[in-house]
Amino acid sequence: MRDDDVRSSCFAALDVLQAKWGADVPYAALSEGFNFRGRRVPFLNRAYGIYRAANVQRGSAALSVNSSPKQIRYQDEQTPDGVLYRYQGADPENHFNRWLRSAHLLDVPLVYFVGTRPNHYQPIYPTFVEEDFPAELRVLLTFGKMRGPYDEREPVHIPDEIERRYVVREVKQRIHQAQFRGAVLPAYQDRCAICRLREVRLLDAAHIVGDAEEAGEPLVSNGLSLCSIHHRAFDEDLVGVAPDLRVHVSSRLLDDEDGPMLDVLKGFHGSTIEAPTKRLWRPDRERLELRFVRFQSAG
Ligand SMILES: [Zn+2]
Repeated sequence: MRDDDVRSSCFAALDVLQAKWGADVPYAALSEGFNFRGRRVPFLNRAYGIYRAANVQRGSAALSVNSSPKQIRYQDEQTPDGVLYRYQGADPENHFNRWLRSAHLLDVPLVYFVGTRPNHYQPIYPTFVEEDFPAELRVLLTFGKMRGPYDEREPVHIPDEIERRYVVREVKQRIHQAQFRGAVLPAYQDRCAICRLREVRLLDAAHIVGDAEEAGEPLVSNGLSLCSIHHRAFDEDLVGVAPDLRVHVSSRLLDDEDGPMLDVLKGFHGSTIEAPTKRLWRPDRERLELRFVRFQSAG
């Protein structure tokens, strides 16, 4: 019994929530659950990680698993093949672990809720329990694709290992970026460091020095909270931040005269960014310097 209808309803409801809230959905919105044939069904079980919707499922396989935001620093171990997710407790036969292992045997899609910042989760679906390692008390999660026209999208388990690794890589980068964002934005009180815009949906965590080491710890001191336009301008070296935290606007922009938006960008030339007060979170001087040299040479 695969409960495909329950899973489809769950995924469709998450599509709607993500359209409304963006990729990271507040727990308050998730806690309302989804509707399945007139019944309210929770999405996840925060306390135990592994969850099966007992009120509507007939089959034995889990509907979702989650990693709490508190575990960001101890995040599920990532490998090129996927994410290693730990059993609940040490007994492979307890009911949580049976639901998880059953998802492997039945090859059903589930949702992996990743904590990205306090009280926010990014739902990743379809996720599959690719392998089961009872002796190690964990499973390997991999990620599939939703395919088909918008109103009848179907979860697809990717059979080809190379293609699957490609999707896994993509998802891991997304998780890393989301967790980095989840660490940086609150440090800046959810505002753009340059223009102070306070609209979370328009804010990004920009890397001061590139994120080549994608698995690296998301260090707040290598980040800046920037609105989309300042992020893009920073990445294109049209706006720079000097080690003394002063904002520099590229002469390419300063010499240009083309409308009010440009005036807004130019207006911050010479201002100082609003950095976090906590020392550990402040932008790292050496990284700023390294990056500022690049900005200057871009002219
Ligand atoms: Zn801005």
